[in-house]
Amino acid sequence: MTPLEERFPTPADAVTAAREGTPCEWTGSIDGSHMRHRPVLLSDGTPGIEQAVFLGSVQEKTILCAWHETPAQDRPVLEKNVLNALDDVYAALRPHLEADIRQARADNYTAPVPETFSDAPELHGTGLPLFGWRLIHPVSPASVWDDMLDVALWNSSIVLDDWLDEYGHIDEVSMDGFMSLLRRHGIPAVLCAGCEKPITCRHPRWPGIWTTPSDEYGGPACPGPGTGPHPPAPLIGWYTDSDFGAPHRPR
Ligand SMILES: [Zn+2]
Repeated sequence: MTPLEERFPTPADAVTAAREGTPCEWTGSIDGSHMRHRPVLLSDGTPGIEQAVFLGSVQEKTILCAWHETPAQDRPVLEKNVLNALDDVYAALRPHLEADIRQARADNYTAPVPETFSDAPELHGTGLPLFGWRLIHPVSPASVWDDMLDVALWNSSIVLDDWLDEYGHIDEVSMDGFMSLLRRHGIPAVLCAGCEKPITCRHPRWPGIWTTPSDEYGGPACPGPGTGPHPPAPLIGWYTDSDFGAPHRPR
């Protein structure tokens, strides 16, 4: 779906269309984690436009593994703990995003503080709630689309999708700092000592086996740190014993 500003001349037009039952939601990403832009109603009934940013893949994978490490009856508490941890992540990141924007625009920009939220798991997802940060921009007949996007929140999507080196000095947005933050909030996140990926040994299809969501090097076999020598190949056969791989191990 195209961005809302390409479909509706003003935010008020999008709100009217949504009230009339037209699907009005943009989800997408621009070099970052997924974002959502859609008309919503505030608690007092006034219309707004939600600007939401969701977890990047590294945070989703880490929290997903912690979700499996947690017994089902304890997950409501885990969900609250994750929201609190994500508050801390944005609080750490916000002054730096704000400073970058001030420098680029040469004005006294102040970044608003988004609320963390969780939506119900999506249909074809992992079962993990959809965690993110959002702002609700109030809509009046005079509102323009520029009022409906906060630049700092937009830019956070780029940082969150892949911890960027330029923000690596912020502890909470490096892998080790993020892990410490999660642990401080009682979130049982575990990294592998070999490959440093998030792992769980309680996925229902892999009970007792440390595994990580499968992407190019996922699953139960640990790719290691990627620095070891390649084993010699046999002359006649096709495989070496190392082709069985080795399991992840918690650090
Ligand atoms: Zn590993």
